[in-house]
Amino acid sequence: MKFDYDVVIVGAGASGVGMAHVLKTLGIERVVMLERYEVGASFLRWPKEMRFISPSFTGNAFGLLDLNAVTLETSPAYTLETEHPSGRQFADYLRLIVKEYKLPVKCGVEVLSIQPGVQPATSSVNGTSEAEPEGFTIPTSDGAVSARFVVWAAGEFQYPRKSVFPGADLCIHNATIRSWRALAMESLGVTLDRGTSNEAAADPHVSDFVVIGGNESGIDSAVNLVRFGKTVTVLDRGVPWQPVGSDPSKTLTPYTLKRLERALKTGRLELVGKTRVKSVVCDKLLFSVSSKSKTWVSKNSPILATGFSGSLQLIDSLFAWKKNGYVELNDRDESTISPGLFVIGPMVRHEAMIFCFIYKFRQRFAVVANAIAEQLEVSIEALEKYRDKQMFLDDLSCCEEECAC
Ligand SMILES: Cc1cc2nc3c(=O)[nH]c(=O)nc-3n(C[C@H](O)[C@H](O)[C@H](O)COP(=O)(O)OP(=O)(O)OC[C@H]3O[C@@H](n4cnc5c(N)ncnc54)[C@H](O)[C@@H]3O)c2cc1C
Repeated sequence: MKFDYDVVIVGAGASGVGMAHVLKTLGIERVVMLERYEVGASFLRWPKEMRFISPSFTGNAFGLLDLNAVTLETSPAYTLETEHPSGRQFADYLRLIVKEYKLPVKCGVEVLSIQPGVQPATSSVNGTSEAEPEGFTIPTSDGAVSARFVVWAAGEFQYPRKSVFPGADLCIHNATIRSWRALAMESLGVTLDRGTSNEAAADPHVSDFVVIGGNESGIDSAVNLVRFGKTVTVLDRGVPWQPVGSDPSKTLTPYTLKRLERALKTGRLELVGKTRVKSVVCDKLLFSVSSKSKTWVSKNSPILATGFSGSLQLIDSLFAWKKNGYVELNDRDESTISPGLFVIGPMVRHEAMIFCFIYKFRQRFAVVANAIAEQLEVSIEALEKYRDKQMFLDDLSCCEEECAC
């Protein structure tokens, strides 16, 4: 059967670009990235002040790939001359890779869904096809295309989790904020214009902002608002600012801990753990954020830092779902119920292993490429160098140990 493409990659972020590069290295040419906005779109939508928490450093020549590199032989630290790139800088790095390696991308094309099977152009004698459905039909904003394989790389950032409790619609999700400085400046005017009573403004239990969620995004929101002069209360159902182990997917990174320490010293930041928010209401222009037993008040819309529901919701019926909210994938990161549909990026999880950082999920691009190349009967010899440079992680037993110190 003829398909428009051998492989359609949905999204041209860190995952899509990294994956397209591996396929190119293998000589698989009938590939396209379909990107609804522009290359690196999620990074371009990060708040202006946000920086990579994982540091970049050019160790490539000594066999240590830059933690934030998405391909072999590139380094964001080298290209951008910074250790903690901003979203805009990282998008520049991705665009440079696309240009340098002539990676195929169509921007401004939104993938609307994925349908298993391709309607054959010609049918069998009686006008119907008896063959097993193969490949995928991909309806897009620019018409439908077909592909033998789909690699889903549409990420999480553009699909925030918003409906978490009654009144969540009164909050602003951190992923929709374009600048913390602008929000802080705006909020000053808003507070004054609102005419909140002097007593409320002077009440120490009333803060400028309540942030709901105290993981990386929540603490990033809080330290930035504190930096621009605001008082902030962070509420979290756990105590994520207390280190619990050496996996940065489960504990705050050193970069964030350092900034948190500085913010706490100002006296304008309060961290409240073991508090599950039940509701938010707005009354007399103040926002009340309540747990079962206590209420916190803020002068501005509370910030939701409650994570992401993720792009896989668009194609949820093509996966078996686990109780923990992740999709079931086989050892090649392929849907267990839709063969030929692969997932890459931060939505990949195998047991306790969370692939939410670039240095983690990039190691699975070669695993997916290997599976596709075998079925297309393309040589996988070029993948050996990926294995040499810790970019081909097919044995997951290696990554479970905690650091000793
Ligand atoms: C706030 C935040 C901070 C982070 N900081 C770090 C960090 O410091 N270090 C690190 O390693 N990781 C970090 N991460 C993890 C981060 O998710 C990944 O590093 C990275 O963004 C994931 O890349 P991706 O390509 O999978 O997704 P994205 O970067 O989100 O790219 C997905 C692409 O798909 C496109 N797209 C989406 N839907 C469609 C559609 N329907 N049709 C067509 N195109 C579509 C989007 O426009 C986008 O360009 C952070 C994540 C968040 C949320």
